[in-house]
Amino acid sequence: MAFVKDILDGTKTLLTGMKVTLNNFRKPSITSKYPIEKIEMSEAFRNVIVLIEKDDIQSHDCIGCKACERVCPSFCIDVDGERPEGMRRMRATEFKVDFALCSDCGLCLDVCPTDTLGYSKIHDETGYNRSDFVYDLLDPWRDAEGPTVERLRKLEEEQAAAKKARTVKKAAAKKAAAKKAETETSKETTEETPTNKNDAENNDA
Ligand code: SF4
Ligand code: SF4
Repeated sequence: MAFVKDILDGTKTLLTGMKVTLNNFRKPSITSKYPIEKIEMSEAFRNVIVLIEKDDIQSHDCIGCKACERVCPSFCIDVDGERPEGMRRMRATEFKVDFALCSDCGLCLDVCPTDTLGYSKIHDETGYNRSDFVYDLLDPWRDAEGPTVERLRKLEEEQAAAKKARTVKKAAAKKAAAKKAETETSKETTEETPTNKNDAENNDA
């Protein structure tokens, strides 16, 4: 009898296992054939920081202010910048991150005054030495830096010209308002004079 019971228990266990297998067999696959297929990482995924492009200037907007370098608790950012000739705005000239030290805390993103820092979606970086994880964040931008600076210089000139035009317009409007007020005051004085004269005549009578 015990033998029959063992067979029944074994069959039941086998069928239970087969049921789970068949149920999952019908569902879509949730794995990918990595590295042939690569999946899109989620928005929440964080990896080494990168400089992100700003639409208005078609480049990163790192001004080398060093705010991120100062706030980084892991001391893994090394950034420098200079003011290109004829420009008011600074541009980064060096930006290295030692990702072997980075904790992805996000403080550097929080303090960036130009919002030009973001997380990358890199998830499969490998290396044999720690130095393999030191990233040059300006590397993807370096070739286009010359034309970018030219574009920014023109943009600054246009903004300065627009500001000057606004100032001139404002000054002209102020001058016109002052002149109008002066004309009205003088008109009122002229209108009041005969009345004063009449008053004087009435007092004499
Ligand atoms: S995420 Fe944190 S640790 Fe990493 S570079 Fe930025 S401030 Fe430093
Ligand atoms: S805080 Fe932003 S603008 Fe300043 S150096 Fe860092 S990335 Fe560049």
